[in-house]
Amino acid sequence: MANQEEIFKKVVSHAKEYGFIFPSSEIYDGLAAVYDYGQLGTELKNNIKQYWWRAMVQYHENIVGIDSAIFMHPRIWKASGHVDAFNDPLIDNKDSKKRYRADVLIEDHIAKIEEKINKECEKAHKRFGDAFDRQQFITTNARVLEHQKQIDEIHAKYAELMNANDLAGLKQLILDLGIVCPVSGTRNWTDVRQFNLMFATKMGSVIDDSDTLYLRPETAQGIFVNFLNVQKSGRMKIPFGIAQIGKAFRNEIVARQFIFRMREFEQMEMQFFVRPGTELEWFNHWKEERLKWHLALGIPAEKYRYHDHEKLAHYANAATDIEFEFPFGFKELEGIHSRTDFDLSRHSEFSGKKLQYFDSELNESYTPYVIETSIGVDRTFLAIFSHALKDETLPDGSTRTVLSLPAPLAPYKAAILPLVKKDGLPEKAREIMNTLKYDFMLQYDEKDAIGRRYRRQDAIGTPYCITVDNDTLSDNTVTVRDRDNMQQQRISIEKLRAFLYDHIQPVKID
Ligand code: ATP
Repeated sequence: MANQEEIFKKVVSHAKEYGFIFPSSEIYDGLAAVYDYGQLGTELKNNIKQYWWRAMVQYHENIVGIDSAIFMHPRIWKASGHVDAFNDPLIDNKDSKKRYRADVLIEDHIAKIEEKINKECEKAHKRFGDAFDRQQFITTNARVLEHQKQIDEIHAKYAELMNANDLAGLKQLILDLGIVCPVSGTRNWTDVRQFNLMFATKMGSVIDDSDTLYLRPETAQGIFVNFLNVQKSGRMKIPFGIAQIGKAFRNEIVARQFIFRMREFEQMEMQFFVRPGTELEWFNHWKEERLKWHLALGIPAEKYRYHDHEKLAHYANAATDIEFEFPFGFKELEGIHSRTDFDLSRHSEFSGKKLQYFDSELNESYTPYVIETSIGVDRTFLAIFSHALKDETLPDGSTRTVLSLPAPLAPYKAAILPLVKKDGLPEKAREIMNTLKYDFMLQYDEKDAIGRRYRRQDAIGTPYCITVDNDTLSDNTVTVRDRDNMQQQRISIEKLRAFLYDHIQPVKID
C-alpha cells in the first residue's frame, strides 16, 4: 500500500500525463499555485459544474442562477468587510525563511494528537478483536481522554485568541505548544502579522485617475448586490436562492497541495434568502442537502465529515464545513454558513439603497437572512479525481491503472474502437460515432493494439469501450466493455443509444 505522499504524487503526475491539469505557464517555469485545465480536465470540470448547476438550479423551483462580473465597485469590498478583515495570520520561521499560516500550524498540531488517538484505537482493536467498541474505548480509555482533553483545550484557546484578534497570544500559543518549523526544525518564529488576501488592480487608461479595484475573493458579493434585480425581475418569493459559478482570487500565503489551494480558482456558491428567525432551520436543511449531493456520486460516506466552526466569521451565526479525506487527510471541501442579514444590511448602508423584501403573507418588509453554500470546483475535482484513481492487480497477475469516475462526470462517455485499422472497420466505427456524437461525448481511437487502447481509456475514466469487429459488418452488433468490471457484452448497434442513456444518467439526489 503506497503512502499518502506517493498517492498524491501519482495523482499530480497522472493528471498531467493524461491532459487533465498542467502547471500554468509551464514553459516559463510555472506560476506558483496557478494551474491550467487540459483537454480532459476541462471536460471533467465542466461536468462537475453542470452536476452542481442542475442540482441547485434545475432541481429547485425557487433557485435561479446568475453570472456577475469579476470587477465590481470597490466600495463593495468595504461593505462586505473584506478590505478590513479578509486576512490570514502569517508567521515566518527565521531560520528556514519559510512562511506559514499560524492557524494552520495549530491545526496541524491538533491533527498530530488526533493521530495518536487513532493509534491507540488501532492497538486496542488488535488486542480486543471483534469485541472492540470504538465509541466505548474513546470515552473511557485514560490515555485517549488525556489526548482529547489536550485537543479541547487547544481548540478553546485558539478560538478565544482568533475571536479577540490577539496576534501576540497566537504566537505565544505556538511557542507553548512547542510547534517547530517542519523545514528547519526550530522554534525561531517572527511575530504573527495579518495579511490581506485580496489582489488589487487599477481600472482606466490613466493610472492617476483610476480607482483601485479588487479581483473578487468570492463570488457571493455579486449575488448580494443583485438581490433586488433578481427578486423583482424573477418575481421571487422568500424563501428563494440565487446560485452562481465563477472565478475567485486569493493571494494565499501558503499555496501548496496542487489544486487544493490556488490563487485563482472557481467557486460554486448559492445564497438562500429566508425570513429572519428561520435561518437555523434552513442552515440545517442545507447542511443535509449538500452532503446528499456529495454522497449521490457514490463515494463512500466515511470519506466525508462535518466540521463545525469554533471561530465564526464576522458575518455568521452558524457555520460548518463538509470535509473530505484527501490524500493528505481530512480538509475543507465546502462551507455552509448562516450569514444573517449582515451582507444585505451592509450593502444597504454603503449604497444608500434599501435592500429589503416585502413579505405579503406577513404584510411587512424586512431584510432577509441568508444561508450560503460555497464549494470550490477545483477542490471537488481533486476529491473526485484522487478517489477515483486506483492501481489494480488483475486475476492474471497483471496490473492496470483505472480512473473510476462516476460515469456522468467522465470526460468521454464511450470510446469507439475498430478492432483493426482495415477491412472497413474504421468506416463502420465512424458511422456509429456519427450517429451517437450528438448525444454523448465520444472518443474515436484506432491506434495500437486493442488491449492498449482499453488501458488508455481505463486511465482516463471512460466508462464504456465500444469495439467494432468483423462480426459487426454482418450482424450489426458491437462489443461493449465496462471499465470497472471489464466484462464484455454484445449489443446491437441500434440499442447503443438507449444503453448509454440508461447507464450514464445524470446523478439523481433523493
Ligand atoms: P480554507 O480555510 O481552506 O482557506 P476558506 O474557509 O477560506 O477555505 P471559503 O471562504 O469558505 O474557504 O470558500 C468556500 C470554498 O471555496 C472552500 O470550501 C473551498 O472549496 C474553495 N476555496 C477557498 N479557497 C480556495 C483556494 N485558495 N483554492 C481552491 N479552492 C478554494
